[in-house]
Amino acid sequence: MSTDSPASGAGSATTPIVKLTDVNKHYGQLHVLQNINLEVSKGEVVVVLGPSGSGKSTLCRAINRLETIDSGSIEIDGQVLPEEGKMLAKLRADVGMVFQSFNLFAHKSILENVTLGPIKVKNMKKAEANKLALSLLERVGVANQKDKLPAQLSGGQQQRVAIARALAMRPKVMLFDEPTSALDPEMINEVLDTMVGLAKEGMTMIVVTHEMGFARKAADRVIFMADGQIVEQAAPEQFFTNPQSVRAKDFLGKLI
Ligand code: ADP
Ligand code: MG
Repeated sequence: MSTDSPASGAGSATTPIVKLTDVNKHYGQLHVLQNINLEVSKGEVVVVLGPSGSGKSTLCRAINRLETIDSGSIEIDGQVLPEEGKMLAKLRADVGMVFQSFNLFAHKSILENVTLGPIKVKNMKKAEANKLALSLLERVGVANQKDKLPAQLSGGQQQRVAIARALAMRPKVMLFDEPTSALDPEMINEVLDTMVGLAKEGMTMIVVTHEMGFARKAADRVIFMADGQIVEQAAPEQFFTNPQSVRAKDFLGKLI
């Protein structure tokens, strides 16, 4: 059986889209991910909170294999992420990632930024990729900017293009690592609204953010990290009104 057939990677309806089992990672002496166990179900929106340096970005990057791990396993829809090779490229395409810095290709048009992945990685025909890209740019509200270069757009618009670009790969899960932290305040909501829309449409999402309003509104579950560990997880209303750990109480106290 070909492992490239679309059906082969898909687990059953109850298979978690993302599953981390006993994941550990060190940077030298620093134990940056400590025995992380995490399952994210299809359609679930998980918001990751925690102080700076707690390992949130490392966790996201590990899920996309932008970082290797020392031990444990990471599965995407039932398939273990390998160290390298063709299968890694395939599984990585299932994981869309949006960073704090938009990372658009500076010398390519907005449209090309979105079509490049489908054409190069998925061998999509240019006409089909253009059609897909336009519909996604429409969805995030920047289709009228399609012929411009990234620098000609506002930060909020660029970040929405970055979301469209990730969606163009038809990912099974979207990771957002502080997607609004680099934005001017007036642009934060247009990006968060786009993310809320995605969540409502049933996209599986892992979102690192300091936007508590988004966490309250869109999260099914809040994960609180500190010092490389998942210290606490709960439904948002429970986490925000009745945090259990000293670290979480301290973290929430500092936000007010
Ligand atoms: P967060 O996203 O929660 O702020 P990070 O995952 O970025 O945390 O970082 C967790 C810890 O790992 C921090 O102490 C950071 O300094 C350290 N760290 C991150 N990336 C590297 C790296 N490439 N090399 C060494 N240390 C790193
Ligand atoms: Mg970070």
